[in-house]
Order: sequence, then structure tokens, then C-alpha cells
Amino acid sequence: MIPDPLLYSELARALERGEFLLHYQPQVDALSGRTVAVEALLRWRHPERGLVSPAEFIPAAERSGMIVAIGDWVLRAACRQSRLWLNRGLAPARMAVNLSARQFSDPLLARRVEDALDEAGLEPPDLELEITESMMAQDPDAAARLLGSLRASGIRLMIDDFGTGYSSLGALKRFPVHGLKLDRAFVGRLPHDRHDAAITRAVLALSRELELDTVAEGVETEDQRAFLERLGCGLIQGYLTGAPQPPELLVPRLRPARREALDAT
Ligand code: C2E
Ligand code: MG
Ligand code: MG
Repeated sequence: MIPDPLLYSELARALERGEFLLHYQPQVDALSGRTVAVEALLRWRHPERGLVSPAEFIPAAERSGMIVAIGDWVLRAACRQSRLWLNRGLAPARMAVNLSARQFSDPLLARRVEDALDEAGLEPPDLELEITESMMAQDPDAAARLLGSLRASGIRLMIDDFGTGYSSLGALKRFPVHGLKLDRAFVGRLPHDRHDAAITRAVLALSRELELDTVAEGVETEDQRAFLERLGCGLIQGYLTGAPQPPELLVPRLRPARREALDAT
């Protein structure tokens, strides 16, 4: 891969100057509407371009290798935010953080995750890591080992964008994940599109049989929510129940924290 020095230095400068920030999107119980988790989503407040979406710079950050440092910042910032909420007596049950392919192959990943949790005084089950199918396909043996040790430490693991990548059914058996996130490509035309409805039914049935949790991404309408809930989809995430927002706007969505978590500081 050809290094991209210009972009690397631009992203490094952005990190140094504190131009990255996180928005948080609730994942809610499909039935009760209660916020069970939040997903941290990266934004870049560019001095000239304003708020830049991750789709525009993550691929370049990945190519240049800067994603490892940026991803580490994301991990720490997200854990710090959980701690801030806990200190205010609020608790999202879990903080979900996206990992990139480079982070996933970084030998220091487990250590970085542990440090981020320790720094914030969080427990492993407070954190959920989202990985994609293609990341696991690159080196399946190494991926299975890494996921096994992360899982053994108590961290939750989800497959992101399920259905769009390799979608190997063997992967669901082999990799010790807690659940999958049904990609929004299948959710957008529910419940009317016959094919998307069939795929959704099949994925949810599979997930249930394998005792995995399911989060549906990109849920925008009440019809979609009702359809997914009827099929037993536990959690939904999308504009219907809350767009990604700055942390202060999430406060009304969070429930009171457990006593023992408050005492951990
Ligand atoms: P993702 O992890 O699948 O995140 C979900 C994306 O769907 C987010 O886009 C979110 O804003 C968007 N979304 C949520 N609800 C709806 C909805 O109802 N309708 C529609 N149309 N879209 C919805 P966003 O924030 O632009 O992030 C795009 C992707 O960038 C993420 O997809 C993830 O792959 C990547 N990303 C974001 N933050 C990070 C990060 O910290 N690290 C890494 N490695 N990747 C990240
Ligand atoms: Mg995600
Ligand atoms: Mg996704």
C-alpha cells in the first residue's frame, strides 16, 4: 500500500489539535424503548470544512495507518465519556466502539483496550467492540484467538454491517461474538421489499438459533421497528429512536446508574 504522507500529517495534526470528537447514537430495546447501549461515532471538526463524516476520512486514515492512533483516541474518549456519565449518576449500559482493520491487527490492541478501561475505571462488560466480517476473514486463526481472549476478559463483541461482507455462516460458529448488527442496507426498505424482508427474517432466525443478540441498524420508521420487533430483533438503532448526537444531548435518554459503578471512582 502506498503511504499517504500528506493526509497522514493532516490527520496527525487534527489529532494533536483536538479536532476529532465523538457523537453517540442510542441502541434501544425494540419493545420498551429503553436505551441499552450507545455507539460512539467519530466526527472531524475541520477548521475550513466544518463537521466531516467518518466515511470521508476513515478510508484514508486506514490507508495511511493514522487510524491506529485515531482509533486509540476514540477508545479512550468513549470510555472517558462513559465515566463522565457515570459520575453524573447516569449509565448507558454499554459503550460500543468501532474498530478498523488496522486496529484489529495491531498486536497492542488488547493492551490498549485494557488501558482505556482502566483509565476510565470501567469494567470490561461496559465496553462493546464492533468489528466487520472482512476483518475476521483476513487472518481467521489470529482473529479467532484475539476475539477469544477479548471475550474471555469480559468485553462484548459484535459483528458490524452483517450481511454486506463475506457473511460466512461458518464465521458465526467459529468466532466467539455476542451478536450481530444487521446492516441498514436490508432495513431501509422494510417491511415492503420482499427480498429484504426474507433476508431479515432469515438472519434473525439464525441469530436466535445461535443464541446471538441482534441490533438492527438504520431503523427510520415505526413500520420498520414493529416488523423487526415482531421477528424478535432485540435492539434497534436508527434515526427513529435517535440520531448520533453530542454527549450532552444524550443525557435525557440515559437511566440512573448502578450504585456500585458510581463508587468505582
Ligand atoms: P457504522 O458503524 O455502521 O455506523 C452506523 C452509521 O449509520 C453511522 O454513520 C450512523 O450515523 C448511520 N445511521 C444511524 N442511524 C441511521 C438511520 O436511521 N439512517 C441512516 N441512513 N443512517 C443511519 P456515520 O456516523 O457516518 O459512520 C459511518 C461509518 O464510519 C460507521 O458505520 C463506521 O463504519 C465508521 N466509523 C464511525 N466512527 C468510527 C470510529 O471511531 N472508528 C472506526 N474505525 N470507524 C468508525
Ligand atoms: Mg458500527
Ligand atoms: Mg454498521
